[in-house]
Amino acid sequence: MERPTTPRKRDRPRAIKWETELLEIIEESPDVKTFRFEKPEGWTFIPGQFVMVFFPDVFGKKNRAYSIASSPNSPYIDLTIKLYGVFTHHMWTLKEGSSWTLRGPYGHFYMDMNRKNDIILIGAGVGITPLMSMLRWSTEEKIDRRFLLIYSNKTPRDIVFNEEIQMIQKANPNVKVVHTLTRLHNVPEPIRDAWPGLRGRISADMIREQVSEWQKEGAERATVFGCGPAAMLTSMEEVMLELGWPKEEIHYEKFW
Ligand SMILES: Cc1cc2nc3c(=O)[nH]c(=O)nc-3n(C[C@H](O)[C@H](O)[C@H](O)COP(=O)(O)OP(=O)(O)OC[C@H]3O[C@@H](n4cnc5c(N)ncnc54)[C@H](O)[C@@H]3O)c2cc1C
Repeated sequence: MERPTTPRKRDRPRAIKWETELLEIIEESPDVKTFRFEKPEGWTFIPGQFVMVFFPDVFGKKNRAYSIASSPNSPYIDLTIKLYGVFTHHMWTLKEGSSWTLRGPYGHFYMDMNRKNDIILIGAGVGITPLMSMLRWSTEEKIDRRFLLIYSNKTPRDIVFNEEIQMIQKANPNVKVVHTLTRLHNVPEPIRDAWPGLRGRISADMIREQVSEWQKEGAERATVFGCGPAAMLTSMEEVMLELGWPKEEIHYEKFW
């Protein structure tokens, strides 16, 4: 089978702007929805890239960036979005068939497909979106690289893509997933007591412990991709540097 490779800079997918209809809305968690669109013919992206969203009639030239959560193999572009402020409140009023303007793909937050080293994915909440595209695509393409995903959410019902992540873990023995929850004190006691994962925010200590356990002795350094709030990304970078990771193996996408 021919292996997918990372395109050279000049061959990277070219950004276009187009108007499209919202095909489907998928409820993912209490405040996260996936908005699904058809992929324009001939258009593609690299897992980890994002598009800009516009509603010119409402916000003029103002836009917001959204990482693509689906795999490039999918016929759809899935944007998985958390309800937050001005733009997202507008999105929550929209129905299937509404008109959206997208522009992209953009971004350099993606794996080098020409390499074989391991990959560490560190995500919080909706920061899973670019990491999910990487995981989906790598599983479909049977990419022979080990993945460690450290994923933080508030409570069990906030875990976006929970079932699918479990399925990926079963289907792809190269994938190890470590969940951590930050607001277990807000859930009923039986659920809290039964939670099998870690507790607390993704900290330097947590990363250090998980990476040290998972890392194979003598293996080439894993490439690290982090996506989430700035504080988490700062701890991530600090601890990876402290563990001896070269700066060029540490990548992050800051959502806000
Ligand atoms: C490359 C890139 C990819 C992104 N991908 C996604 C994605 O896949 N899914 C997604 O939901 N968002 C994503 N975002 C964030 C998105 O672009 C918007 O910032 C977000 O949807 C909020 O927009 P808003 O207009 O609703 O809120 P605003 O009215 O813009 O919110 C006000 C302020 O709150 C901050 N903020 C926004 N959201 C949060 C939050 N959840 N927690 C804390 N502070 C916040 C912002 O810095 C902003 O200044 C991405 C951002 C970038 C740069």
